[in-house]
Amino acid sequence: MLYRNKNKRWEEQTADATKYPQGYFNPKPCRRCGTVFTPKAPSNLYCSQACSDYGVVSAYLNRCYGIDYDAYLSMLAEQSGVCALCGGEGFVMAGHHKLKLVVDHCHKTGRIRGLLCHNCNRALGLLQDDTDVIRKAVGYLEGVATIPQGRRPKRAKAQRPR
Ligand SMILES: [Zn+2]
Ligand SMILES: [Zn+2]
Repeated sequence: MLYRNKNKRWEEQTADATKYPQGYFNPKPCRRCGTVFTPKAPSNLYCSQACSDYGVVSAYLNRCYGIDYDAYLSMLAEQSGVCALCGGEGFVMAGHHKLKLVVDHCHKTGRIRGLLCHNCNRALGLLQDDTDVIRKAVGYLEGVATIPQGRRPKRAKAQRPR
C-alpha cells in the first residue's frame, strides 16, 4: 500500500502563533513519550523528529494492520531483523515509510503472517499466495516439471566442450 505523509516534517513545522487562538502553543505532553513540550504548530503532536517518525509509522501500521510500532519491532526481533523468506535485511521503497520489511498478511483472513522484504512480499502476491502454484514454481525451477523424462536439459548440452 502506497502511503505518503502529506504533513510537513516535524522540524519544518512552523506557524505564526498570532494567527491561532490562544492555547494551541501551550506546552503539552508528547503523544509518543509523554514529555511535555512547547508545540511549534497546532498540528505538533510530538516532542521530536524521532517521536514524530515513530508516531507516523505507528499510526500507519495501526490503520493497515491493527498493530503498533512496538509490535512490529518485536516481530522484527523474533525474525532476527531479517525477511522471513529470503533472510535479507530488506530495503526501503520510495514513497513508503522507513520500514525495510513489510507486514505480510493473509488477504482472506487479515491474519499477519510475518515480516517480508518488498521483493518476497510482492513475489507471494504475484503467485496469488497460492501454495500449489508456489510448489509448482519450485518444481519448475528445479527442472523436474518441465523437462520430459529421458531428455537432458538443453543447458547441460551447451556446457559440453566443443
Ligand atoms: Zn516525545
Ligand atoms: Zn525477502
